[in-house]
Amino acid sequence: MARRKPPQLEFVPGRAPAQIATRHPFRLDGQPIEYTLKRSLRRRRITFTIDEDGLRVGAPWSASQGRIESLLGAHARWVSRKLAEWQARRPPRFTWQAGATVMALGEPLTLALDLERSVTERDNGRLYIAANAGDQAMLAEHAVAWLRTTALGWFEQRALHFAPALAVRVPTIRLSNAKTRWGTCHPDGRVHLNWRLIQMPPALIDYVVVHELAHLREPNHSQRFWRRVAAVLPDYAQRRLALRHDGHRYLLA
Ligand SMILES: [Zn+2]
Repeated sequence: MARRKPPQLEFVPGRAPAQIATRHPFRLDGQPIEYTLKRSLRRRRITFTIDEDGLRVGAPWSASQGRIESLLGAHARWVSRKLAEWQARRPPRFTWQAGATVMALGEPLTLALDLERSVTERDNGRLYIAANAGDQAMLAEHAVAWLRTTALGWFEQRALHFAPALAVRVPTIRLSNAKTRWGTCHPDGRVHLNWRLIQMPPALIDYVVVHELAHLREPNHSQRFWRRVAAVLPDYAQRRLALRHDGHRYLLA
């Protein structure tokens, strides 16, 4: 199964990291795995990070492959336990069909078919779609269209709500379809937000909206930027963490 990189929240015009990443096969306790090795000039120690992307090893330029892999071997139990935990958290592959669940503003909606309807409608925990059973493409098209329309309306309303507190002009919101970004802020004042965000609870959407709007004043992640975010969302750090932790669950379609 193809691994998807979870979306990140970044404003990085042309940042060039001083590091090199390579992939390596390895036998961990007899199990074949692959890991990403990131060598960097700034790193002083060998570090292991395990998340939805799998195992990443951070190492100084001088660390030998042998040293890295003997350290991996020494921590094999811990590494395999963590890899298994992340594997278990990975959501099953989503299929567009009647009875499947999509999320909207953190609430589950069951997809239901109804050829009598002229528009896609939300009603009592269901999303009614005019499609034939078996016509997955039509079902997906209508459901995504409804999510996108809902997303744009919601994002515009939240941007309007937060703009005064952030002392920014209400930006033009565009929907993005990126698989690797939740939001981007362009220097000319356009803010692109991923339509998939509409699946998340409102508190997480608000964090992304505030984050991108704050970039209209501070096009960086400086302390001033984070102070600006904190002034509007004092608990932004928890929301940010929740987004990092749960974001991959909302990659639908
Ligand atoms: Zn940012």
